[in-house]
Amino acid sequence: MDDPHPLRAHMALCLLGFRGSGYSPGFVKVMGEVQAALWADPERQVRLVDEPDPICDACPNLGPRGCTLGGDEHEAHMRAHDREVLRRLDLAPGTAISWGALLARVAERIEGADLPAICTTCPWLPLGVCRESVDALRSSQGGNALSPPKGGDAPAEAH
Ligand code: SF4
Repeated sequence: MDDPHPLRAHMALCLLGFRGSGYSPGFVKVMGEVQAALWADPERQVRLVDEPDPICDACPNLGPRGCTLGGDEHEAHMRAHDREVLRRLDLAPGTAISWGALLARVAERIEGADLPAICTTCPWLPLGVCRESVDALRSSQGGNALSPPKGGDAPAEAH
């Protein structure tokens, strides 16, 4: 069996809202590959972390001390996102869980209206697609939201 795929905890929500736009072509490619792999195999294990993950490795905003999206100290904000998601899911950093079980837990414990408190200043938040996707997952009770939506616009600062 493959080792659990490291995944920033808040990235589980980002993957729900990802519609093919991102910070660079390389980032979009990796994000799309991870999204496709997880949706194709709900039994795939992920290990939830509160630090940069392999998707971050492909992001042009990753610096030596982590995420620099909003400046040199932005990694602290990203970790706060991760820890808030983990708190709401009642899971500890480092937990390994199947993607399907994680989706079910998100569906049970997080709703779209929670995202402003979790995601704070993320430039993608105003688009509303992540909120819509979380609520769609809740509607399906985590069970059949295995076909992520495609399309949608990118925020101007996120190319
Ligand atoms: S609003 Fe930003 S941080 Fe929140 S789920 Fe969407 S992309 Fe991720």
